[in-house]
Amino acid sequence: MIIDEDMSALVTGGASGLGKAVAKALNNRGAKVTIFDLDCEAGESLAAKIKCQFVKVDVSDPESVAIAFQTAKDQNGTARIVFNCAGLCPAEKTVSRGNAHATEKFTKTININLLGSLYICSQAAKAMAELKQLETGERGVIVNTASIAAFDGQMGQVAYAASKGGIVSMTLPMARDLAALGIRVMAIAPGIFKTPMVEAFPEEIQDQLGKNIPFPSRLGCPDEFASLGIHICENPMLNGEVIRLDGGFRMPPK
Ligand code: NAD
Repeated sequence: MIIDEDMSALVTGGASGLGKAVAKALNNRGAKVTIFDLDCEAGESLAAKIKCQFVKVDVSDPESVAIAFQTAKDQNGTARIVFNCAGLCPAEKTVSRGNAHATEKFTKTININLLGSLYICSQAAKAMAELKQLETGERGVIVNTASIAAFDGQMGQVAYAASKGGIVSMTLPMARDLAALGIRVMAIAPGIFKTPMVEAFPEEIQDQLGKNIPFPSRLGCPDEFASLGIHICENPMLNGEVIRLDGGFRMPPK
């Protein structure tokens, strides 16, 4: 589909990191962008800067998601492009210092990363179903954010890897469910990208992480993620697939 000023787009987690880069890239193409995020300060500041809409949402709360969709539609119309970038990346081993994995941490991770993506996808698809088909036969495209941890999760990543593995597994059946409506579903599985999530690590750890990537031997830039996201929107043959974006990196056990 062609991204232009007639197109509405919605980006969860759009106040920071990968989502922010996607929101900016869509905005640059003229799309009417709505950012869904928990972080009001960052969300409102970006919205003022690039002149887009910000709506406070907790993606893990289906009611909050439903209300936010209505608010976004009232201002920008129904989104044909939806990116799920909201997420968190906790660490805890299955057993640590004799303690079993905290249930709340596991549940929270699944609720935000996996269920949050599902709530957004199903609300998005419900609304897209009411739209007219474009010339290509498409009604919309949904891009979820998985992680290479879905395939090579490290020690301490049971909760995170399970949440991202769910996103990977959801991709094909969701694309099949929505095919008759002309809605495509894709996922990107990023390697390690330089966002606030990763910038929280000490500088020398970030450098080491970058050196371990075959080529290019550095952390990914959020703009490179956004660039793939834009290509997915524009290429109608991409559907039901997860694309690794990782410079050839395969994570070791730790
Ligand atoms: P980030 O921390 O910079 O941004 C995440 C955003 O999600 C934040 O703005 C945060 O406020 C928002 N958010 C968190 N919980 C939310 C909730 N319940 N409701 C609404 N918004 C919420 O992180 P990032 O690096 O940009 O990560 C974006 C996505 O990409 C995440 O799903 C992450 O797991 C995934 N990912 C990141 C990397 C990486 O290296 N940065 C690698 C693989 C996957």
